[in-house]
Amino acid sequence: HAKTSSPDHCVLFSAALEQGPRERQRLLLALHQALEREEFTLVLQPKVALADRSYAGAEVLVRWSSPQLGDVPPDLFVPVAEDAGLIQGIGDWVLGEATRGLGNGDIAGDTRRRMAINVSAAQLQNERFLDRFRSRLDQAGVTGEVIEVEVTESALLASTAVAAERLEALRQLGVTITLDDFGTGYSSFSHLKHLPIDALKIAPEFIADIDGDAAAARLLAAMVAMARSLELRVVAEGVETGEQARFLTGLGCTEGQGYLFGRPMAPPDFARWLRDHDVR
Ligand code: C2E
Ligand code: MG
Ligand code: MG
Ligand code: MG
Repeated sequence: HAKTSSPDHCVLFSAALEQGPRERQRLLLALHQALEREEFTLVLQPKVALADRSYAGAEVLVRWSSPQLGDVPPDLFVPVAEDAGLIQGIGDWVLGEATRGLGNGDIAGDTRRRMAINVSAAQLQNERFLDRFRSRLDQAGVTGEVIEVEVTESALLASTAVAAERLEALRQLGVTITLDDFGTGYSSFSHLKHLPIDALKIAPEFIADIDGDAAAARLLAAMVAMARSLELRVVAEGVETGEQARFLTGLGCTEGQGYLFGRPMAPPDFARWLRDHDVR
């Protein structure tokens, strides 16, 4: 998915990345300077309860606007940052910015809904992760109860024991854990049963085709049924049509997120969205 603000840069840049190591080197160089030059921002995308479309929280997504490279989407730079050991700093900035905004009401006003933050495998494996996390909460004067952490299956596979222990510690702080991009990784059902998670987030590719494809619809139904049998909340990601929303609601999927309900928005636009939807 291309970014709207600067599509040319994006297309050019992803093409360039595929050309080889020199472009990757350029990205890496720019990425090294991005934090101190304050080139990152956050956007927020609402999640709604499918049963009544009421506001159920939001996901925080990082954006990078580089003076040299233009807008670079996270799908491109997050993996590079992970490889280069830069994701700790970026992730810490994201958490700091999100908790600060929650604490002072800049983000989401005084709604006490949870804010979901993406955490990479490499962050979770870092031994200072928990200390940093706690101090970010303390600095902002918020408790873990306002945070949901989204981790991907691969994050949990890297080192299951360490990951499970860290996630359990987060839960002790009141944080809830969601398995992101469910269905795209390798988690077996037996693996899932042992993970300290509260919700599954079904990846957009499992939602995209259901309108015209009966087999895709049955697969989605089975995924939702499995999540429910494990007594996990289920969030559908990438909901774009009313038909998809109705189908998911019928399956008993708890929450939806996608362009149908709201795009990722800069904090002022997100505040307006909340007001327009009478969220308190
Ligand atoms: P994700 O966590 O699975 O985030 C969902 C992605 O789906 C977002 O892309 C969002 O903009 C997009 N999306 C939302 N609704 C729709 C829809 O209706 N249709 C379609 N086609 N797409 C939709 P985005 O913002 O480009 O982020 C991509 C990925 O980058 C994220 O996937 C996440 O893995 C990673 N990422 C983003 N922010 C952070 C961050 O702060 N930290 C870390 N570690 N990773 C991040
Ligand atoms: Mg996510
Ligand atoms: Mg996802
Ligand atoms: Mg993703």
